[in-house]
Amino acid sequence: MRAPAWKSAGLAALCVVAAVLLSWSAAGQQFDAWAYDFLLRLNPPGPRAASAVIVALDEPTLRANRGMTHLRRPLAAVLQAVAGSGASVVAVDIQLADRDEPELDRTLSRALDATPRLVLATALVADPHSHRVYWEDPLPEFSRKCALGHVHADPDLDGVSRMVLLEKAGAGKRRWALALEAFRLALGAPGIVETGDALEVGGLSIPAPRRDQRALRIRYLPNGVLERISAKDLIEHPELASRLRGRAVFIGVTVQGGVDRLVTPYSLEQASAMPGVEIHANLYETLARREFLVSLPNSLVLAMTLALAACMALGFHLLAGWRAFVCGFSLLLAAHAAPCLFFARGLVAPAAPLAAGAWFCFLGLGTRQYLLTRRKLGMAEAQRDRYQQAVHYVTHEMRTPLTAIQGSSELMGRYALSEEKRKEIAGLIHRESRRLARMIEMFLSVERLSAGQLELKREPVPAADLLACCLERARPLAEGKQISLALEATDADEIPALWGDREFLEYACYNLITNAIKYSPAGTEIVARAEQAGEMVRVSVRDQGYGMDEQEVKRIFQKFYRTRRAQESGEAGTGIGLALVEEIVAGHGGAIEVESRVNQGSCFTLVLPRVHAEVEKLRH
Ligand code: ADP
Repeated sequence: MRAPAWKSAGLAALCVVAAVLLSWSAAGQQFDAWAYDFLLRLNPPGPRAASAVIVALDEPTLRANRGMTHLRRPLAAVLQAVAGSGASVVAVDIQLADRDEPELDRTLSRALDATPRLVLATALVADPHSHRVYWEDPLPEFSRKCALGHVHADPDLDGVSRMVLLEKAGAGKRRWALALEAFRLALGAPGIVETGDALEVGGLSIPAPRRDQRALRIRYLPNGVLERISAKDLIEHPELASRLRGRAVFIGVTVQGGVDRLVTPYSLEQASAMPGVEIHANLYETLARREFLVSLPNSLVLAMTLALAACMALGFHLLAGWRAFVCGFSLLLAAHAAPCLFFARGLVAPAAPLAAGAWFCFLGLGTRQYLLTRRKLGMAEAQRDRYQQAVHYVTHEMRTPLTAIQGSSELMGRYALSEEKRKEIAGLIHRESRRLARMIEMFLSVERLSAGQLELKREPVPAADLLACCLERARPLAEGKQISLALEATDADEIPALWGDREFLEYACYNLITNAIKYSPAGTEIVARAEQAGEMVRVSVRDQGYGMDEQEVKRIFQKFYRTRRAQESGEAGTGIGLALVEEIVAGHGGAIEVESRVNQGSCFTLVLPRVHAEVEKLRH
């Protein structure tokens, strides 16, 4: 028998809810970030010569120019070397907001003026005293002929720079990112056109929705792909400038331990943070290669997680054993493969909801199936054991009447018996064969009743009369155990008759009474009672016997089940009597109630339909 489908579906839905909650948590977000970094490194941009080049103000350059505080001299010299190189654009990632020695500033100003297609860096900063934010723009004499671009890299919460906000607004102004401005100038585009979902530059649409603050993921190039030329080398060997022809030149500080260094998805591999200028150059490459990474809508991710959970639930519901686990495992693999396949097509799907959803469903549904299978196996084994015991008992029970019949018939055949003796033996044979027939009939009835093959008769059966008759039959048994039987005083005429099959109802009541006798100690009392309850009649048998605990009560209607106490009592039994009683009661459209307390006694109540009022009238 299969567990109900709604239970599998409910469990899968619970797993999805748990997965979604987990993917919203800090741990889930971090998992997404790691998966993203892994996939980014696994899918580097296609092989082609980089169109950006870094001119690095590195350690040798600074050593030759009196350190970090004196960047203007090498910068001016580098610009002079770059000016005639035919570079498509020059972007300077160095703040030029302060004044230096006037002579140096004048030289730098001239060099900047002489550089075509130039972008200078600006940043939104907060005054530490007034907390007022303002743009730290280059000095006016530096920015006469150039564009300005912001140099914020906006790392994620874990400190890793994965994206750049292409637009930054503050202090009443808005600035595009340095790399975007450089890209615009390199294309010769007059401006940047905005739509809700994209920015357009020179006919290229960049997917950077306004709702995401125009964030664009940087498709970092693997280590060593972006060419880096030392500023010192370029100053000392101006012929190196020929390497800059037609390329976007990013000038910035690259010294190890410099302040402008950020962690990127490649930092783990390279064991070092990346200079800011290289991050801007990478963003430029992302734009130049047009290899954008776009987020999949959350609704689609949720729909995929739900679909996956539904397939998993269906698999575990329809398939059994290892097949279900193979199906679940395949879906688990699919859940992990999906973000990889999407990524290869430039689509970013968060890995956490799919992975967590698949794992939760696999573990939840798998464990459930394992436990259910174990329980079924245990139940089947227990039933087989009980069945064997019952068969053993029945064969043993059948032997007694059979021996009596055999012995008696032999006597009759061998010896000439008196008429009186012959009658007595014939009576014995008759009684024993009837007992045998009843026993066989009872076993067959259980099977036929549970298979729905037995037709119950419908006739009025007076409840008090039924009970009195059963009590009378059971009296010798009760007397043998010194147990008193009583029919609680009720006016028999007031109790409506039952509507059912007398033979089966009698069997049910008799079974309850004999059970009460079997499972009660000597000297106790058994009270049978019938009373009307609306459209039903309640027929109860109360004893002061051994009783049962809650767990036992739940199992006594299973075929062949006997409580430990019943087995130890020495009373013969098969454990199918109550199973048959339950079938009989259900066949009549009634119910059976049991109240029991260990060592205090039990009360079995049959709630059966009363005879229809019209039939009742006819009876009277
Ligand atoms: P059995 O042939 O063993 O009597 P039944 O199906 O009639 O089989 O009853 C199943 C089990 O329910 C019994 O073995 C016994 O453990 C328990 N039981 C039934 N009636 C009583 C009772 N009145 N008091 C205590 N235990 C009972």
